[in-house]
Amino acid sequence: WQPYLPLAGLLSATEVVSHWTAVFEKRGIPEAQASSEYIVAHVLGAKTFQSLRPVLRTQPLSPWQLQHVQKLSSCRLQRMPLQYILGEWDFQGLSLKMAPPVFIPRPETEELVEWVLKEVTQSSCPMGAQGGPLILEVGCGSGAISLSLLTQLPQSRVIAVDKGEAAICLTQENAQRLRLLDRIQIVPLDVTLEGSWSHLLPWGPMDLVVSNPPYIFHQDMEQLAPEIRSYEDPVALDGGEEGMDIITHILALAPWLLKDSGSIFLEVDPRHPELVGSWLQSRPDLSLDLVAVRKDFCGRPRFLHIRRSGP
Ligand code: GLN
Repeated sequence: WQPYLPLAGLLSATEVVSHWTAVFEKRGIPEAQASSEYIVAHVLGAKTFQSLRPVLRTQPLSPWQLQHVQKLSSCRLQRMPLQYILGEWDFQGLSLKMAPPVFIPRPETEELVEWVLKEVTQSSCPMGAQGGPLILEVGCGSGAISLSLLTQLPQSRVIAVDKGEAAICLTQENAQRLRLLDRIQIVPLDVTLEGSWSHLLPWGPMDLVVSNPPYIFHQDMEQLAPEIRSYEDPVALDGGEEGMDIITHILALAPWLLKDSGSIFLEVDPRHPELVGSWLQSRPDLSLDLVAVRKDFCGRPRFLHIRRSGP
């Protein structure tokens, strides 16, 4: 069995896709066909295989193109996520640069963004002085949440923080690519450090805090797929014993950072709505109420809306 194709073969894109699909399937690589289609399309300068003009699918690939496909496919054989192999990925219609080990935005997080947009535009959340909300994103990663909110809320401003240097650089680069640098402040910050919130005071209290924090229960980290375990920064995933370490830090920041009746939107594990509910009951000093829990597209309770009820 030979995974590599002879370089000088006269193979069409469709044949190359079939070849690598078979190789991936044999090696137990998840999403074998999608992986080979995305790789071949990428090498031919397209986003998806379906969007390739029919003539490009039947024409033979050049030796250079075959070699490029081979190189990217061998990364996939090492279980590298497709998003890192391609170097970019779409989120809420934005094409974002992806680079290891920065957390790859997941489709369910698009639902969190859509919920925030719905709440803000229906005005159940307060608006900032300039007609749009001032939003804090904790753990911005590639900038996916912040940049899609900025794009869809033209009056909004965002403060995006992350403790990882690679994440800060990637958010910066993506903001620059999308020409959104004038409405975003990107700040290296670890919210778990004592007094870290004081660095955010110059921007004033926030209307909204949004986060997809690390929330995986520590003991579940071992069971993550090799794509996640070997390539993504565990710091963006591991939420400690009950996955609550960062969540509780964010909630505890509310009195310092959030306007009265400001809102916090979080993506969490399905076990968290209950845990967060009882944690909030043990902290009446924070004046925070869990006002809504929303399910993801698989029907699991994954998104929380928490509101500050007063000083
Ligand atoms: N949903 C992600 C995963 O399963 C975890 C996201 C997170 O911890 N913020 O990989």
